[in-house]
Amino acid sequence: MKKEKLIYEGKAKKVYQTDNPELLIQEFKDDATAFDAKKRGTIRNKGACNNEISARLFGILETKGISTHFVKLLSGREMLVKRLEIIPVEVTIRNVVAGGMAKLLGLEEGKKLKAPVLEYHYKSDALHDPLINEYHIFALELASNKEMKAIARYSFEINHILLKFFDQRDLKLVDFKLEFGRHKDKILLGDEISPDTCRLWDKSTDKKLDKDRFRRDLGDIEEAYQEVLRRVLS
Ligand code: 5GP
Repeated sequence: MKKEKLIYEGKAKKVYQTDNPELLIQEFKDDATAFDAKKRGTIRNKGACNNEISARLFGILETKGISTHFVKLLSGREMLVKRLEIIPVEVTIRNVVAGGMAKLLGLEEGKKLKAPVLEYHYKSDALHDPLINEYHIFALELASNKEMKAIARYSFEINHILLKFFDQRDLKLVDFKLEFGRHKDKILLGDEISPDTCRLWDKSTDKKLDKDRFRRDLGDIEEAYQEVLRRVLS
């Protein structure tokens, strides 16, 4: 499978066409941005880590009945994926208070929630991905009722599967962000699942092993990504 025209370049990934109109190549970059790209940097080997971590997690989810866009790994930084029409709604699932939820509600980070919280954010860098609810989604025709029901159900199932998977590897899945898209009348999980899109804390020390090390200048960023890769592959 060969890379053809570059059709999208985002903050952390490039997406290329292939000779098959149904398939795309997703290439993971070492570039890191935060706070709507006001903070920029690179994390050595991040692209390769996120490619491998995402591939493994998509593989696990597929075995548990969740359909994803992942087809196969192509190289250290590239995976073959199904072409999606991305739904412009980011789904966040939270198990522990952190980041945006701590700020929004004036809560301390680290409080375990009594039940997982699902949030929707409108996918727009210019608007800083604002929090929206199902009424906005239906009124603005971002997705149908049936699609959102499926997305919510998949998101909670993914949380259930990943909580257990990470727990067995001594990692706390604090929160994470998912993106879904349409592919031939089906809703598939897209994008990536990696320390760029999840908060992962060491179970015994609460050490942050995710992109917050970059966002908050905590150091040992590359090591944190490598540590997550090591545990995910174990
Ligand atoms: P928060 O809303 O607390 O900033 O983020 C919640 C979770 O979703 C975190 O794990 C965060 O990494 C992820 N997340 C939310 N929005 C984005 C985004 O635009 N880019 C990335 N890489 N992760 C995001």
